Amino acid sequence: MSVLSAPHFHNEKAAYAYVEARVWPEGPVCPHCGCFGRIYELKGKSTRIGVRKCGDCRKPFTVKVGTIFEASHVPLRYWLQAMFLMASSKKGVSANQLHRTLGVTLKTAWFMAHRIREAMRDGNLAPFGSDGGDVEADETYIINNPQFSNRGGKNKSVVVTLVERNSGRAKSFVAESATTKHIGAIVAANIAKEARLITDASNVYVGVGKTFAAHRWVNHTKEEYVSKFDPTVHTNTVEGFYSIFKRGMRGIYQHCSPKHLHRYVAEYDFRYSNRQAVGFNDVARADNLLAGVVGKRLTYQTAREQA
Ligand SMILES: [Zn+2]
Repeated sequence: MSVLSAPHFHNEKAAYAYVEARVWPEGPVCPHCGCFGRIYELKGKSTRIGVRKCGDCRKPFTVKVGTIFEASHVPLRYWLQAMFLMASSKKGVSANQLHRTLGVTLKTAWFMAHRIREAMRDGNLAPFGSDGGDVEADETYIINNPQFSNRGGKNKSVVVTLVERNSGRAKSFVAESATTKHIGAIVAANIAKEARLITDASNVYVGVGKTFAAHRWVNHTKEEYVSKFDPTVHTNTVEGFYSIFKRGMRGIYQHCSPKHLHRYVAEYDFRYSNRQAVGFNDVARADNLLAGVVGKRLTYQTAREQA
Protein backbone atom coordinates (compact mmCIF):
# COMPACT_ATOMS: atom_id res chain seq x y z
CA MET A 1 0.00 0.00 0.00
CA SER A 2 1.23 3.47 -0.85
CA VAL A 3 2.57 5.49 2.06
CA LEU A 4 0.52 8.42 0.74
CA SER A 5 -2.76 6.53 1.21
CA ALA A 6 -2.39 6.76 5.02
CA PRO A 7 -5.51 8.41 6.59
CA HIS A 8 -3.61 11.37 8.11
CA PHE A 9 -2.88 12.69 4.61
CA HIS A 10 -6.60 12.73 3.65
CA ASN A 11 -8.74 12.98 6.77
CA GLU A 12 -8.52 16.06 8.99
CA LYS A 13 -9.41 14.20 12.20
CA ALA A 14 -6.75 11.59 11.49
CA ALA A 15 -4.26 14.38 10.73
CA TYR A 16 -4.88 15.96 14.16
CA ALA A 17 -4.57 12.59 15.90
CA TYR A 18 -1.29 11.94 14.07
CA VAL A 19 0.22 15.32 15.04
CA GLU A 20 -1.09 15.11 18.64
CA ALA A 21 0.51 11.71 19.18
CA ARG A 22 3.89 13.19 18.19
CA VAL A 23 3.71 16.66 19.75
CA TRP A 24 2.08 15.35 22.97
CA PRO A 25 3.56 11.86 23.46
CA GLU A 26 2.48 11.93 27.15
CA GLY A 27 -1.00 13.31 26.44
CA PRO A 28 -2.23 16.89 25.84
CA VAL A 29 -0.54 19.83 27.58
CA CYS A 30 -2.20 23.25 27.94
CA PRO A 31 -0.06 25.83 26.09
CA HIS A 32 -1.51 28.64 28.24
CA CYS A 33 -0.74 27.39 31.77
CA GLY A 34 1.33 24.23 31.18
CA CYS A 35 -1.22 22.06 32.96
CA PHE A 36 -1.86 18.46 31.90
CA GLY A 37 -4.25 15.79 33.09
CA ARG A 38 -7.37 17.95 33.48
CA ILE A 39 -7.90 18.56 29.78
CA TYR A 40 -11.17 17.90 27.99
CA GLU A 41 -11.88 17.40 24.33
CA LEU A 42 -14.72 19.61 23.12
CA LYS A 43 -17.20 17.57 21.14
CA GLY A 44 -20.11 19.55 19.75
CA LYS A 45 -21.47 19.67 16.24
CA SER A 46 -20.16 23.21 15.78
CA THR A 47 -16.81 22.55 17.49
CA ARG A 48 -13.75 22.67 15.28
CA ILE A 49 -11.63 19.52 15.06
CA GLY A 50 -8.98 19.13 17.75
CA VAL A 51 -10.24 21.80 20.19
CA ARG A 52 -9.49 21.04 23.85
CA LYS A 53 -10.31 22.94 26.98
CA CYS A 54 -8.05 23.25 29.99
CA GLY A 55 -9.71 22.39 33.31
CA ASP A 56 -7.36 24.72 35.20
CA CYS A 57 -7.29 27.97 33.22
CA ARG A 58 -10.51 27.25 31.26
CA LYS A 59 -8.93 28.36 27.97
CA PRO A 60 -9.43 26.46 24.70
CA PHE A 61 -6.53 25.37 22.47
CA THR A 62 -5.49 22.93 19.76
CA VAL A 63 -2.20 21.13 19.10
CA LYS A 64 -1.36 23.87 16.56
CA VAL A 65 -0.71 26.49 19.28
CA GLY A 66 3.02 27.21 19.57
CA THR A 67 3.94 25.30 16.39
CA ILE A 68 4.65 26.26 12.78
CA PHE A 69 0.96 25.49 12.05
CA GLU A 70 -0.33 28.20 14.35
CA ALA A 71 -2.42 30.92 12.67
CA SER A 72 -2.46 28.97 9.40
CA HIS A 73 -5.81 28.31 7.71
CA VAL A 74 -4.36 25.50 5.62
CA PRO A 75 -5.84 22.14 6.71
CA LEU A 76 -3.43 20.07 8.78
CA ARG A 77 -3.60 17.15 6.32
CA TYR A 78 -2.15 19.41 3.59
CA TRP A 79 0.66 20.42 5.92
CA LEU A 80 1.42 16.73 6.48
CA GLN A 81 1.44 16.14 2.72
CA ALA A 82 3.81 19.07 2.18
CA MET A 83 6.10 17.89 4.98
CA PHE A 84 6.21 14.38 3.59
CA LEU A 85 7.06 15.67 0.11
CA MET A 86 9.83 17.92 1.43
CA ALA A 87 11.24 15.26 3.76
CA SER A 88 11.30 12.53 1.11
CA SER A 89 12.50 14.39 -1.99
CA LYS A 90 16.20 14.18 -2.63
CA LYS A 91 16.81 17.64 -4.06
CA GLY A 92 13.95 19.71 -2.61
CA VAL A 93 10.45 20.76 -3.67
CA SER A 94 9.76 24.13 -5.26
CA ALA A 95 6.95 26.39 -4.00
CA ASN A 96 5.47 26.07 -7.47
CA GLN A 97 5.28 22.30 -7.20
CA LEU A 98 3.68 22.50 -3.73
CA HIS A 99 1.18 25.00 -5.13
CA ARG A 100 0.22 22.61 -7.95
CA THR A 101 0.24 19.42 -5.86
CA LEU A 102 -1.70 20.76 -2.85
CA GLY A 103 -3.97 23.19 -4.68
CA VAL A 104 -3.04 26.11 -2.38
CA THR A 105 -2.00 29.53 -3.77
CA LEU A 106 1.64 30.06 -4.71
CA LYS A 107 2.02 32.60 -1.90
CA THR A 108 0.69 30.09 0.67
CA ALA A 109 2.92 27.35 -0.74
CA TRP A 110 5.97 29.61 -0.44
CA PHE A 111 5.13 30.43 3.15
CA MET A 112 4.44 26.78 4.08
CA ALA A 113 7.79 25.74 2.60
CA HIS A 114 9.64 28.32 4.69
CA ARG A 115 7.88 27.27 7.88
CA ILE A 116 8.69 23.63 7.16
CA ARG A 117 12.35 24.62 6.73
CA GLU A 118 12.17 26.21 10.19
CA ALA A 119 10.97 22.87 11.55
CA MET A 120 13.95 21.23 9.82
CA ARG A 121 16.39 23.53 11.59
CA ASP A 122 18.49 21.54 14.05
CA GLY A 123 17.98 22.80 17.59
CA ASN A 124 20.87 20.69 18.89
CA LEU A 125 23.71 23.12 19.60
CA ALA A 126 26.19 20.51 20.91
CA PRO A 127 29.46 20.77 18.96
CA PHE A 128 30.41 18.02 16.51
CA GLY A 129 33.20 15.62 17.41
CA SER A 130 32.66 15.69 21.20
CA ASP A 131 33.47 11.96 21.20
CA GLY A 132 36.93 12.68 19.78
CA GLY A 133 35.86 11.58 16.31
CA ASP A 134 36.55 13.02 12.87
CA VAL A 135 34.80 16.13 11.58
CA GLU A 136 35.16 17.21 7.96
CA ALA A 137 34.81 20.90 7.12
CA ASP A 138 34.59 22.57 3.72
CA GLU A 139 33.11 25.63 2.08
CA THR A 140 31.24 26.28 -1.14
CA TYR A 141 29.66 29.20 -3.01
CA ILE A 142 26.08 29.73 -4.03
CA ILE A 143 25.30 32.23 -6.77
CA ASN A 144 22.53 34.50 -5.47
CA ASN A 145 21.05 35.45 -8.79
CA PRO A 146 22.03 33.49 -11.92
CA GLN A 147 21.06 36.49 -14.09
CA PHE A 148 24.01 38.42 -12.68
CA SER A 149 26.56 35.61 -12.57
CA ASN A 150 29.18 37.98 -14.01
CA ARG A 151 29.15 40.16 -10.90
CA GLY A 152 31.68 37.94 -9.17
CA GLY A 153 32.09 37.94 -5.37
CA LYS A 154 29.22 40.34 -4.70
CA ASN A 155 26.73 37.94 -6.21
CA LYS A 156 27.90 34.92 -4.20
CA SER A 157 27.11 33.60 -0.73
CA VAL A 158 29.54 31.44 1.22
CA VAL A 159 28.28 28.23 2.85
CA VAL A 160 30.42 26.33 5.36
CA THR A 161 29.48 22.71 6.10
CA LEU A 162 30.66 20.40 8.88
CA VAL A 163 30.08 16.64 8.73
CA GLU A 164 30.48 14.50 11.84
CA ARG A 165 31.59 11.14 10.50
CA ASN A 166 30.56 8.95 13.45
CA SER A 167 26.92 10.13 13.46
CA GLY A 168 26.70 10.94 9.74
CA ARG A 169 25.16 14.34 10.52
CA ALA A 170 25.77 17.57 8.61
CA LYS A 171 25.48 21.16 9.79
CA SER A 172 25.81 24.12 7.44
CA PHE A 173 26.23 27.83 8.03
CA VAL A 174 26.03 30.90 5.84
CA ALA A 175 29.34 32.74 6.37
CA GLU A 176 29.71 36.50 6.08
CA SER A 177 32.78 35.98 3.88
CA ALA A 178 35.24 33.23 2.93
CA THR A 179 37.93 34.68 5.20
CA THR A 180 39.93 33.09 8.02
CA LYS A 181 38.03 35.31 10.44
CA HIS A 182 34.49 34.27 9.48
CA ILE A 183 35.08 30.62 8.56
CA GLY A 184 37.44 30.17 11.52
CA ALA A 185 34.77 31.48 13.93
CA ILE A 186 32.16 29.00 12.64
CA VAL A 187 34.59 26.07 12.87
CA ALA A 188 35.76 27.08 16.38
CA ALA A 189 32.23 27.47 17.75
CA ASN A 190 30.76 24.25 16.35
CA ILE A 191 33.49 21.61 16.66
CA ALA A 192 34.66 20.21 20.00
CA LYS A 193 38.32 20.61 20.96
CA GLU A 194 38.61 16.79 21.28
CA ALA A 195 37.82 16.32 17.58
CA ARG A 196 40.14 15.65 14.66
CA LEU A 197 39.47 18.25 11.98
CA ILE A 198 39.82 17.22 8.34
CA THR A 199 39.85 19.83 5.55
CA ASP A 200 41.46 20.64 2.24
CA ALA A 201 44.68 22.64 2.22
CA SER A 202 42.92 26.04 2.21
CA ASN A 203 44.69 28.44 4.54
CA VAL A 204 41.43 29.52 6.23
CA TYR A 205 41.61 26.34 8.35
CA VAL A 206 45.26 26.55 9.40
CA GLY A 207 44.92 28.80 12.45
CA VAL A 208 41.73 27.34 13.88
CA GLY A 209 43.02 23.82 13.07
CA LYS A 210 45.68 24.20 15.78
CA THR A 211 42.99 24.46 18.47
CA PHE A 212 41.76 20.86 17.94
CA ALA A 213 43.23 17.53 19.06
CA ALA A 214 44.49 17.16 15.48
CA HIS A 215 44.10 18.73 12.06
CA ARG A 216 44.79 16.79 8.87
CA TRP A 217 44.26 17.93 5.30
CA VAL A 218 44.49 16.80 1.70
CA ASN A 219 45.97 18.99 -1.00
CA HIS A 220 43.47 19.09 -3.84
CA THR A 221 45.64 21.41 -5.96
CA LYS A 222 48.26 18.63 -6.00
CA GLU A 223 45.52 16.15 -6.89
CA GLU A 224 45.65 14.54 -3.48
CA TYR A 225 42.10 13.43 -2.57
CA VAL A 226 42.87 10.69 -0.06
CA SER A 227 46.04 10.80 2.02
CA LYS A 228 48.63 8.17 0.99
CA PHE A 229 49.63 7.81 4.64
CA ASP A 230 46.18 7.63 6.21
CA PRO A 231 43.15 6.64 4.08
CA THR A 232 40.76 8.22 6.62
CA VAL A 233 42.14 11.66 5.73
CA HIS A 234 39.85 12.96 2.96
CA THR A 235 36.92 15.36 2.50
CA ASN A 236 34.84 13.04 0.30
CA THR A 237 31.93 12.94 2.77
CA VAL A 238 31.36 16.70 2.85
CA GLU A 239 31.87 16.86 -0.91
CA GLY A 240 29.13 14.22 -1.30
CA PHE A 241 26.85 16.50 0.71
CA TYR A 242 27.69 19.44 -1.56
CA SER A 243 26.97 17.49 -4.72
CA ILE A 244 23.33 17.00 -3.60
CA PHE A 245 23.08 20.53 -2.20
CA LYS A 246 24.42 22.25 -5.30
CA ARG A 247 22.33 20.19 -7.71
CA GLY A 248 19.20 21.06 -5.70
CA MET A 249 20.03 24.76 -5.40
CA ARG A 250 20.70 24.98 -9.13
CA GLY A 251 17.78 22.86 -10.25
CA ILE A 252 14.96 23.58 -7.78
CA TYR A 253 15.73 26.81 -5.92
CA GLN A 254 17.32 29.01 -8.60
CA HIS A 255 15.87 32.20 -7.17
CA CYS A 256 17.07 31.97 -3.61
CA SER A 257 17.56 35.30 -1.88
CA PRO A 258 20.66 35.39 0.36
CA LYS A 259 18.36 36.36 3.25
CA HIS A 260 16.68 32.95 3.06
CA LEU A 261 19.78 30.87 2.36
CA HIS A 262 20.12 29.80 6.02
CA ARG A 263 16.71 28.10 5.74
CA TYR A 264 17.62 26.24 2.54
CA VAL A 265 20.85 24.94 4.06
CA ALA A 266 18.83 23.72 7.09
CA GLU A 267 16.64 21.76 4.67
CA TYR A 268 19.62 19.96 3.08
CA ASP A 269 21.23 19.37 6.48
CA PHE A 270 18.00 17.83 7.76
CA ARG A 271 17.58 15.40 4.88
CA TYR A 272 21.26 14.47 4.95
CA SER A 273 21.36 13.89 8.74
CA ASN A 274 18.18 11.77 8.50
CA ARG A 275 19.06 9.90 5.31
CA GLN A 276 18.51 6.23 4.49
CA ALA A 277 22.18 5.37 5.04
CA VAL A 278 22.00 6.41 8.71
CA GLY A 279 18.79 4.43 9.26
CA PHE A 280 15.82 6.66 8.36
CA ASN A 281 13.21 5.73 5.77
CA ASP A 282 10.81 8.33 4.32
CA VAL A 283 8.19 7.84 7.05
CA ALA A 284 10.71 8.03 9.92
CA ARG A 285 12.27 11.14 8.37
CA ALA A 286 8.87 12.86 8.06
CA ASP A 287 8.09 11.93 11.70
CA ASN A 288 11.39 13.42 12.79
CA LEU A 289 10.45 16.58 10.94
CA LEU A 290 7.13 16.66 12.76
CA ALA A 291 9.01 16.55 16.06
CA GLY A 292 10.66 19.85 15.05
CA VAL A 293 7.44 21.85 14.56
CA VAL A 294 7.23 22.96 18.20
CA GLY A 295 8.68 26.35 19.16
CA LYS A 296 9.55 27.23 15.55
CA ARG A 297 6.67 29.57 14.85
CA LEU A 298 7.63 31.88 11.99
CA THR A 299 5.18 34.69 11.46
CA TYR A 300 4.21 35.90 8.04
CA GLN A 301 5.60 39.27 9.06
CA THR A 302 9.11 37.90 9.77
CA ALA A 303 9.12 35.96 6.51
CA ARG A 304 8.06 39.06 4.56
CA GLU A 305 10.63 41.29 6.24
CA GLN A 306 13.34 38.87 5.20
CA ALA A 307 12.01 38.43 1.67
ZN1 LIG B 1 -4.48 25.89 31.07
